[in-house]
Amino acid sequence: MTAQTVKTLAASIGFDACGITCAQAVDAEAIARHDRWIAEGRHDTMEWVTRWRDVRNDPRLLLEGARSLIVLALNYFPSNFQPPEAPQVAAYAYGRDYHKVMRRMMRPLALALEAAGHATRLCVDSAPLRERYWAQRAGLGFVGRNNQLIIPGRGAYFFLGTIVTTAPLEPDKPCNLHCPEGCRRCEEACPAGALHDGEAVDARRCLSCLTIEHQGPLPPGTASLLGHRVFGCDECLKACPFNRHATATTVDDFAPSDAFLALTDEDFATMDQARFDALFGHTPVKRAGLAALLRNLESMFFLDLE
Ligand code: SF4
Ligand code: SF4
Repeated sequence: MTAQTVKTLAASIGFDACGITCAQAVDAEAIARHDRWIAEGRHDTMEWVTRWRDVRNDPRLLLEGARSLIVLALNYFPSNFQPPEAPQVAAYAYGRDYHKVMRRMMRPLALALEAAGHATRLCVDSAPLRERYWAQRAGLGFVGRNNQLIIPGRGAYFFLGTIVTTAPLEPDKPCNLHCPEGCRRCEEACPAGALHDGEAVDARRCLSCLTIEHQGPLPPGTASLLGHRVFGCDECLKACPFNRHATATTVDDFAPSDAFLALTDEDFATMDQARFDALFGHTPVKRAGLAALLRNLESMFFLDLE
């Protein structure tokens, strides 16, 4: 199987971009940067990022005999948005859980590789794999100051998935582009001061990390920064000029439901588990759970209790 065959198949399945890179160790600078992020505690309560360090730094440990990484991107930019007065959910979580959608779409590619005698392992934000790093290595785009993978001409509203395979495929050239000189729009737009000098995000401050991943009560001072955000934050995406030309996804699974788009403050505040499951059980919001959603909502509504 050739690299071109893989890319043609990926495009026919519906992926927006596909790049290939060699399975090898992560470079020392990127490892040091990640280690520093953890040593300084900027990962907040996300203890899982400290585990499987060896595997995270060398994807060959994910699959015996791994030779290549196939990195795939899928646009999730919504065609319809919540009204601004509603409690805001990040755009990536509007539709069906991307882990499942991506895996379902990646499966035919994996089957084709396996039919040609190669082993595969599918990774969608689940294995200890540095997906944005490998996407840059595979030529898809570059990692911006906002920590997102930016695909030139298309933006950053993309889910990433990676197939680790034993197939020896022709690699693409890494993307050598960077953020434009002097651009700091994402840092300036960040309501929480979580982005600095192109470093990895400070999860102790980032409203996306805090509303979705943080365990326990929100840190003091968070409530006054939340605005109307109840799950995630898109400010550093919205501010990025590369996203000006984002086009709506054609993946029906990522379309928000009418019931979700109609949710009001009161609907969120009075939500019980059955309603949460019906509205969010199939979406990424499920990860945070109803308790975290209500915690965030309470912080939004009762700023004066801080
Ligand atoms: S998601 Fe929001 S809080 Fe987090 S870095 Fe981006 S703009 Fe800042
Ligand atoms: S806003 Fe500017 S600095 Fe930030 S990621 Fe986009 S291009 Fe880079």
